[in-house]
Amino acid sequence: MFWEKYSRQKIRDIVFESIDRNLNYRVSPPIGLPASYLDPKVFYSDAPFLSEAPFMSTMLANPNHIGCHTMGDSEPVFKGTQALEQELIALCATEIFGAASDAVDGYVASGGTEANIQAFWVMRNYFVEAHEARHEEIAMVYSSDAHYSMPKGVNLLNIKSIVASVDDETRLIVLDDLKTDLIKAKAVGVKHFILVMNMSTTMFGSVDDMAGAVDLFQSLDLNFKIHVDGAYGGFIYPFSAEDPLYSFQNQHVFSFSLDAHKMLLSPYGTGVVLIRKGYISYAMTKEANYVKGKDYTLIGSRSGANAVAIWMIMRAYGSDGWKAKIANLLERTDWLCEQLTKRGISFYRHPKMNIVTLRPDKVDPLLAEKYFLVPDDHDDPMWWKIVVMDHVTEGILDQFLLDLDKTLTNE
Ligand SMILES: *Cc1c(COP(=O)(O)O)cnc(C)c1O
Repeated sequence: MFWEKYSRQKIRDIVFESIDRNLNYRVSPPIGLPASYLDPKVFYSDAPFLSEAPFMSTMLANPNHIGCHTMGDSEPVFKGTQALEQELIALCATEIFGAASDAVDGYVASGGTEANIQAFWVMRNYFVEAHEARHEEIAMVYSSDAHYSMPKGVNLLNIKSIVASVDDETRLIVLDDLKTDLIKAKAVGVKHFILVMNMSTTMFGSVDDMAGAVDLFQSLDLNFKIHVDGAYGGFIYPFSAEDPLYSFQNQHVFSFSLDAHKMLLSPYGTGVVLIRKGYISYAMTKEANYVKGKDYTLIGSRSGANAVAIWMIMRAYGSDGWKAKIANLLERTDWLCEQLTKRGISFYRHPKMNIVTLRPDKVDPLLAEKYFLVPDDHDDPMWWKIVVMDHVTEGILDQFLLDLDKTLTNE
């Protein structure tokens, strides 16, 4: 894993060069596109700080990254900023997830939800077209801790679902129960499986046991492809754990999703979807005739500034800088866990992740409210989670622990 860190100046220069390579609405106004720079009355372009604000400047220039730019043709008028999107997709595929160069397609989606559904959409159409499957012969398999975009996708795509139960302590899928469900599904005619593996769940930071799941599917001789939901953990786990199973080196892995608007702290609208080359055409909308190169994405028009934001953050840190940042957050999480253990508080934590999820028995709901801890269920909390982000400093955790001690001695 390696990508170079660029200086502030270099990032600025590259982004401005990219905007310049796009069509400039002010210099050569196109009269056929329903698009332009942002409304000049509200977003004026002569603010003096803009020359040092590459992201804001990209927002004002307002490039539309409609379509997918890792294959085929694209709108030539936005080729400058599209090139930054191509680079960031390639960095994610090769440096984070170990793909060979030019072996993955992808784009910057609106978020993890769209990235997940895009991958499912491609897989479902692949099973329908290449295996002549009927919708009821396709099932998505995911754990009960998985994100709600899975049932959303199942509903939209009109396929079956199997929700695997998890162990209350380990948060791992109970493979014996899943085995029973898979045998039942096979018996009623399900032939193709979209297996979702969480490269960290949202609530626990738990990572699914990929080896165990693959063994199970193989032992039952099932046809399956794996989608990895890395919306939460995509910018954490690959940097803290070297796990070849969670990479494109694993032949069963078909696709990844990751969210830059979580750990990477980029603006909302920055999901990333990565799909092995040769498949995204199953999601081509051939009727997208007015789009140069057609459309392979779920979303349609989307802001090129989002891609630029992700690229800027990745380049501002470089892979080494990002790894160091994650190591630092995990150290702080280790320390928090030690402090909780000392106080006899039970919690779940994956050692390579920055989420700590507390059992509710010793957590005063008022304390949880004061620190905005997130419950698994707002009506009936069984767990409260803490996410150790940049702003969750040692000082704040100290304060939380002091308050916690007060509630413990009051008992
Ligand atoms: C946040 C999250 C999603 C959904 O992402 P959005 O960006 O909110 O659409 C999906 N899966 C996991 C594991 C997540 O943490």
